[in-house]
Amino acid sequence: MAVPKRKTSPSRAGMRRSHQALPKEQHAECGNCGELKRPHHVCSHCGHYDGREVVAAGGALKGAVRA
Ligand SMILES: [Zn+2]
Repeated sequence: MAVPKRKTSPSRAGMRRSHQALPKEQHAECGNCGELKRPHHVCSHCGHYDGREVVAAGGALKGAVRA
């Protein structure tokens, strides 16, 4: 089995892990109620999308943004 020649230093490990951060979740204001919501998603607060109500208001949606 191939074995690493030397121990990975804490600095090296840190450099490698510098690319592992998850992207920050994006938020956009709802055009209807002003609540923060995920872009291109139905608003979890008022159920509006693209200027019209598409889901009954107050319904708990999966992946909803709480603000
Ligand atoms: Zn809304």
